[in-house]
This record gives sequence, structure tokens and C-alpha cells, in this order.
Amino acid sequence: MSRFIKYLKCSRCGRIYSYEDARITCENNDLGRLDIYYDYEAMKEVVTKDYLAKIPLESMWKYKDLIPPKDESKIVSLGEGATPLIKAKRLAEELGLKNLYLKDETRNPTGSFKDRGMSVAVSVAKEFGFTKAVTASSGNAAAALAAYGARAGIDVIAFVIEQAGYGKIAQLLFYGAKVFRVRGLGREDPTVKLMRMVHEKFGFYMAPSFGPFNPYQIEGPKTISYEVVEQLGWRRPDWVFVPVGAASLLTGVWKGFRDFRELGIIPDLPHLFAVQSTGNPPFVRAYKEGQDPFNIRPWDHPHTIAWGLEDPYPWDGDAGIAALKETKGDAEEVPDELILKAMKLLASREGVFAEPSGAAGLAGLMAALEDGRIDKDEEVVVLITGHGLKDPDVVKESAGDAPTISADLEEFKAVLSNAYGIKI
Ligand SMILES: *Cc1c(COP(=O)(O)O)cnc(C)c1O
Repeated sequence: MSRFIKYLKCSRCGRIYSYEDARITCENNDLGRLDIYYDYEAMKEVVTKDYLAKIPLESMWKYKDLIPPKDESKIVSLGEGATPLIKAKRLAEELGLKNLYLKDETRNPTGSFKDRGMSVAVSVAKEFGFTKAVTASSGNAAAALAAYGARAGIDVIAFVIEQAGYGKIAQLLFYGAKVFRVRGLGREDPTVKLMRMVHEKFGFYMAPSFGPFNPYQIEGPKTISYEVVEQLGWRRPDWVFVPVGAASLLTGVWKGFRDFRELGIIPDLPHLFAVQSTGNPPFVRAYKEGQDPFNIRPWDHPHTIAWGLEDPYPWDGDAGIAALKETKGDAEEVPDELILKAMKLLASREGVFAEPSGAAGLAGLMAALEDGRIDKDEEVVVLITGHGLKDPDVVKESAGDAPTISADLEEFKAVLSNAYGIKI
């Protein structure tokens, strides 16, 4: 019920629209993102730290004053957000850090942070009166859209990349989405191409998890930052590690901290650290090489176990690079082996089971600690973005299978020693 939305402005051509225009894209520039601007002066009068502290953190909609839709009765929710901020003592010790926190986004209704964005996107679709939606996704965003679409009675067509893990497809099919695996991932993402054609020809509401084709969903991940500040006792951490595909999450997290700075809740912003896999690092390369943020070179042959980060073109890279610059942040690409190592550490030391994309932020932290870019005394939050059971194939390959034995103590002892190296 954000009555504080002022206007939407195209990130590329600067054209201004009102929220009531119910636009998804800019008329002038087909790659511009309609960034949402708020009236902070008016918001400040109402949304103070005391006001927020009185509302229990039961879902991200606690923060409904800071995100669309305008009409509260249009909110479509499954209780997303309000995920725990876990103090990771064992992991911190192992990495030699003093204060490490995991923002556990695997706890969201469909198993990834994408639920936050899609809850907003579907609420806005309802407010605008759409009954059909279309998406392009590596899986998690589509699964989230399908779940919220099911709840709202909105039909969902989902185009996913051919290689998407079955866990994601199964979810989509059960939520009732009409799912298509699309061939030919390369320089141009074929799922995005199809989505745009279906939008243009048939008027479906586009709801992928990147800004140029849906600016509303970016407002969802803002609530991750609000929650981190609240859960730290209304303080900001020093660093936040963010896995990056399209860079919408990074953009949302940045906007969230900015909102709180505008409202005077925090004095300044944490440094943001963007992480990609060496198998698909177009955003990290663009940042390091100082490429034109509006003309980032796409990655030719994306190939990584982190499907969720496999966007060959970071659609919100312009905002993502601005986020790193404003927060004096940093970026790094990490090999898939380090992502696997991070997955295992997360699960075995802290009991948090993430998919590879979900653990990539931690792999980035490990790389940054290795070369001394992060100080041991700094307070670090790592976003754990998606659940390990999303991708059982990768899990099986790296964890292997369990040995089979009879109900026989001697055999148990022998196999315990052989397979696990433990003697009792
Ligand atoms: C989508 C996704 C990301 C990356 O988010 P972007 O907004 O595309 O940068 C990270 N982790 C998981 C699990 C995801 O599904």
C-alpha cells in the first residue's frame, strides 16, 4: 500500500510515467527499466524506526509502506520474507572472521529469495487487472511466479532454459504453470526472446526477475536489506555478499539500504560484494574492466553448476554497477569447485543446505578473505539465496550416494571405517 510512490522513470531515456499508467516497459526505449521513485519527505513523517519496530516481523509485508502495490487488498502473499539472520559461529571461526551472518533465504515459500520479488510482481499484476502472465527464467523465478500466480488465479506461461534442474520444473508443473524448456542458450537468451514476443503479441503481463521487463519485482528484494538492518538491531553490517545473475537482487538490496538511509534509519550504506561463477562472469568482468554499464558485453557460452546465475546478459547490470560504485563495493568470480566447497561448508558447519547459486555468495567471501580484501574484524552478511533440494542432480554428483548395509553391527563398523573414515 505504498501511497508514497511518486513516479516511474526510464533508466535509459529518462521518460517519466505515473504508477497508474500501469506500464511494465518504457515506450521509447525497449531496454530501459522503469525505476520507481518515492516521496521520502512524506514517507519520513510516517515510516520511522519506532513505527517499524512496533510491527512484528512476520513476513516482508511488514514493510508494505515502502513497496507496491498501492491497494493493500491486492497483496498476494505466502508469508515470504522474515527469514532468519543466522549468526554463523562455526563457519566464522573456520574462516577466521569475528562476525559472520547468513541471511537464510532458502526458507522462503518456494525455496528461494525470488518469492519476494514475485509476491510484489503478482500483487501489482492484480492491481493492474492482468489475468495472464509470462516469464523467462532459469527456474527459481518461474517457480515463484507460478506459486503466486496460482494463489492469485493468474495463468502462468513459463519459458525455462533447456538445462534447468528437474526440481525446478517439478515445482512449476505442480503449481499449474504451462512450462516449456527452450533450446539454444547462447548470446541471446531464447527464453527472454519468447517471453517478449508473447507479451507483445498477446498482451500477457511479463514477470521475469529482471527490471527492464518488470520493474516492480525489484522492490521485493529491498525487504532483505530492511530485515538485515532490523535483525542487527537497526544497524547496518560492513559488507553484504550477493550472488549475481541478472543483478536484480543486487539492485534491490542496494535500493533497500538506500531507502533506510533516506529515512534516516541508517547513516550510510554497507559495502556490497557481487559474486559470479567463472563459468558466466559478464557482470564481474564489466565492473572490473570499466565497461559501459548500459552496454555490457554478454557472455558467449555460459556454463556453471550455478544455474541461477547463468544469465548471459545482466539485465540490471547498469544499476548493479552503480550499486558497487556508490557503496565502495567489490566483485569477484569464483570457480564452480569453490562454490561446491562453500555448499558443503554451509551444510556441514551450519546446517544450511543451499543450491550452488545459493552458496555462491559464501564462495565469494572465501575468495575475498583469501586475498585479504575483507578485514577479519568486519561484520559480514552473506545472502544464501536458494535451497539445496532445488538441484538434486548436482547434489548427487558431488555428495555421492550412501553405502548399503545389512542390520549387522560388524558390517556397520567396517563400512563406517571404509566409507567415512570413522573407527568406533
Ligand atoms: C536468481 C538467483 C540469483 C541471482 O539473482 P539475480 O537477480 O538474477 O542477480 C541468486 N541465487 C539464486 C538461488 C537465484 O535463484
